[in-house]
Amino acid sequence: MQVAKDYVNEVYEAVKKRNPNESEFHQAVKEIFDSLVPVFTKHPKYMDNGILERISEPERIITFRVPWVDDQGKVRVNRGFRVQFNSSIGPYKGGIRFHPSVNASIIKFLGFEQIFKNSLTGQPIGGGKGGADFDPKGKSDGEIMRFTQSFMTELCKYIGPDIDIPAGDIGVGAREIGFMFGQYKRIHGGYEAGVLTGKGLEYGGSLNRTEATGYGTVYFVEEMLKDKGLSFAGSTVVVSGSGNVAIYAIEKATQLGAKVAACSDSNGYIYDPNGINLETVKRLKEVERKRISEYVKEHPHAEYYEGCIGIWSIPCDIALPCATQNEINDVSAQILIANGVKAVGEGANMPSKPEAINAFLSNNILFGPAKAANAGGVAVSALEMAQNSMRLSWTSEEVDVKLHEIMINIYQNSMKAAEEYGYPGNLMVGANIAGFIKVADAMVMQGII
Ligand code: NDP
Repeated sequence: MQVAKDYVNEVYEAVKKRNPNESEFHQAVKEIFDSLVPVFTKHPKYMDNGILERISEPERIITFRVPWVDDQGKVRVNRGFRVQFNSSIGPYKGGIRFHPSVNASIIKFLGFEQIFKNSLTGQPIGGGKGGADFDPKGKSDGEIMRFTQSFMTELCKYIGPDIDIPAGDIGVGAREIGFMFGQYKRIHGGYEAGVLTGKGLEYGGSLNRTEATGYGTVYFVEEMLKDKGLSFAGSTVVVSGSGNVAIYAIEKATQLGAKVAACSDSNGYIYDPNGINLETVKRLKEVERKRISEYVKEHPHAEYYEGCIGIWSIPCDIALPCATQNEINDVSAQILIANGVKAVGEGANMPSKPEAINAFLSNNILFGPAKAANAGGVAVSALEMAQNSMRLSWTSEEVDVKLHEIMINIYQNSMKAAEEYGYPGNLMVGANIAGFIKVADAMVMQGII
């Protein structure tokens, strides 16, 4: 019988060979594969069924041209992607990212992570992800609409309420979802509310979807802290980013009695010793779409620094990276640890580099990995799908109670799996294993497909 470690290494090498130059995808695959060694040792049936070989190859990858015309009348072309990674436990589900850095590696790492995250939520949703290398910054509403309509004109051939249900991610919020929904409806006819989530409340969106990822991350970290007799109350928190996830992580952490001292955007970060004024951040980022540097004009006692990485040198009890992948490197992790950080909760996807995760784990810092800690967004997206199917709307309180329960369950299931497979307290290993087993069992039951 093949030894589990050899099996994992062999498949990982094959993934690297088949997907050259896709470093983010390799990074995500390696982390999950390494965590699964104890699972294969205990259950060789997963090796016999070629689960790793199959789960690391997307069921389908769609790449397409997105032509559009800018405000000057110039023809522009971007590249669109949709990776339909795994539909073992439900239709593909995962966000759309508009950012100039988008490429196959980034969409595949996100799609791969999404398989396990979606499984962890307990909802019947498979894994997918999409996007385009389009930069929404500085574009007019008209340009955003024309680009988004062109993007959906192609994407609409591959999605549907029981096939693949996209949502938002970096650069895709309520405005872009609205344009996508309008174009999908125009082409398909009929009113298929369940084809997208993150919709406006006026046309089938769920209350609390906007808040869900940020709130969910804080609920998850709250559970981690509770187990050690700690809490948000009275603690200092640093949150990177100032987008959807960051804003609602700041809101919930503040509601729970923490002081959030800093946040950022891709140009720099602000430090406010009095605690970030969230109303200002919301207006600047959600309404006026301005840079975070503008904050100090209204709050002169606060400080602005160019560059993103320095935010991790601000002493804090709890760090919530909520911007983008690989934003915490080994050096930043060491600085956080030296400054006494007690917990790190990943609101963004894969924000900590592997060396940073190792540093947190080996220094006994509480570490909430992305696929568990930020699963609240997709969980409430699944609740939005349920409400669309039933043609009713739950109240904000009802959705929040369900979100809170889901985050507690994810925490408990991850802790339980970590314990059962010999890594007590290691939520990274626990989340990977708990997310994997359900998908792997479904794949075994459905045969070699
Ligand atoms: P937004 O576009 O709303 O905000 C992203 C924030 O991160 C902005 O402040 C942005 O700054 C900053 N940022 C983006 N790219 C970079 C970069 N390369 N370097 C530094 N800062 C950067 O996105 P979301 O808040 O929705 O997403 C943030 C993270 O959370 C992503 O990793 C996403 O995949 C993850 N996530 C999101 C979910 C959701 O429901 N929205 C669900 C689960 C995970 P700027 O404005 O300057 O671009």
